[in-house]
Amino acid sequence: MAVPEQNAISQQDRAEMEADMLEAIGRWVEKEVRPIAREFDQADEYPAELVEQMKELGLFGATISPEYGGLGLSATGYARIVSRICEVWMAPTGIFNSHLIMASCVERAGTEAQKQKYLPRFASGELRGGIGLTEPNAGTDLQRIRTVARRDGDDYVINGTKTWISNGIKGNCLAVLVKTDPEADPPHKGMSLFLCEKGPGFSVGKKLKKLGYRSIDSAELVFEDFRISSDQLIGGVEGRGFQQTAGGLELGRINVAARGVGMARGSLALALAYAKERQTFGKPICQHQAIQLKLADMSTRAEAAALLVEEAARRYDTGQRCDLEAGRAKLFASEAALENSTEAMRIFGGYSYSTEYEIERFYRDAPLMCIGEGTNEIQRIIIAKQLIERC
Ligand SMILES: Cc1cc2nc3c(=O)[nH]c(=O)nc-3n(C[C@H](O)[C@H](O)[C@H](O)COP(=O)(O)OP(=O)(O)OC[C@H]3O[C@@H](n4cnc5c(N)ncnc54)[C@H](O)[C@@H]3O)c2cc1C
Repeated sequence: MAVPEQNAISQQDRAEMEADMLEAIGRWVEKEVRPIAREFDQADEYPAELVEQMKELGLFGATISPEYGGLGLSATGYARIVSRICEVWMAPTGIFNSHLIMASCVERAGTEAQKQKYLPRFASGELRGGIGLTEPNAGTDLQRIRTVARRDGDDYVINGTKTWISNGIKGNCLAVLVKTDPEADPPHKGMSLFLCEKGPGFSVGKKLKKLGYRSIDSAELVFEDFRISSDQLIGGVEGRGFQQTAGGLELGRINVAARGVGMARGSLALALAYAKERQTFGKPICQHQAIQLKLADMSTRAEAAALLVEEAARRYDTGQRCDLEAGRAKLFASEAALENSTEAMRIFGGYSYSTEYEIERFYRDAPLMCIGEGTNEIQRIIIAKQLIERC
């Protein structure tokens, strides 16, 4: 994919470039992703060849500025690409999604030296990774994390355990949230974010077995006296990690919402094709009104979700705060994915239960959208707080 001239990109050029990219992604998805999705998912096998193709397509630098070697896509263009891939198979997007959240933390909050050192290598896919926030005792309530980084001369020494970390095994660099001042009150003032490249003292615990979202590795990470230079502290100042993380999660929520749109559309597409083929009582089941009602609701949910994602992404692109919009999009689109996959299972009848068909994967993958980047319970709280504050 050709990278546009640095910094000189007009809105029209950008729109054209993003439309071209979306078309290229569509071709790639049909040619390379669809044929292998079922087999790789069921074997829980890492799609290494797809990763090489993703590098070629520029996906590891999709939202990184051209100045640092990325494509500089808008959140809107990026969300459309994510949706398109998830219409067929959600898991491969996880290989670059949390990687780009890490990159966005560096680009928004890192020092210039950190940007120069890391962003071009992130954009090319040479260094890949994600974000390490969750711990065995703390997911939603991140201020309770126990991983600690203690200053030792020019270095820090990190000890603690992270869990559920996407790309934890295949990735070689992760943005890791720690406490630099465990006594701070409130706790978030003592939290910092480090860019950790794997090395002595930073090991991978176990690969976690999962209901869905297979083929992408989710792992426990263990830090035992992991020594890291203070140059790796994002932004170079302690105590900003919680805010830096929260900033990255706005893009993360748009991204999960976009996945939800793709999965809601993908479930509908599979159900519609099946309903046109499958006959009962002398006609295709799509001619039964009970099935038509389901198809109509599924289509409406998917496209309503798409509009909410477009709204959130547009706002993100204008640099405005978008936690309300991203929260609404994430909540609605993830529930749409879950409902559409469940309704599609009903339309497939007994065959929904067969691993010979694709729909059971959507049904297993969809619940994650309601958990990741802030559970939907928390999204509702964020939405309500914003309504009270803004309106
Ligand atoms: C496949 C997968 C991949 C993941 N990838 C990553 C990753 O790359 N990096 C990473 O850091 N983490 C990752 N996670 C972890 C994920 O972000 C957490 O699971 C999520 O934040 C929820 O945390 P928890 O599981 O500890 O649930 P808990 O925080 O224990 O919550 C349990 C339940 O209580 C509810 N709840 C909690 N607090 C409140 C409240 N105040 N009000 C109302 N309800 C509340 C929650 O909504 C939920 O329903 C991943 C998880 C999975 C399953």
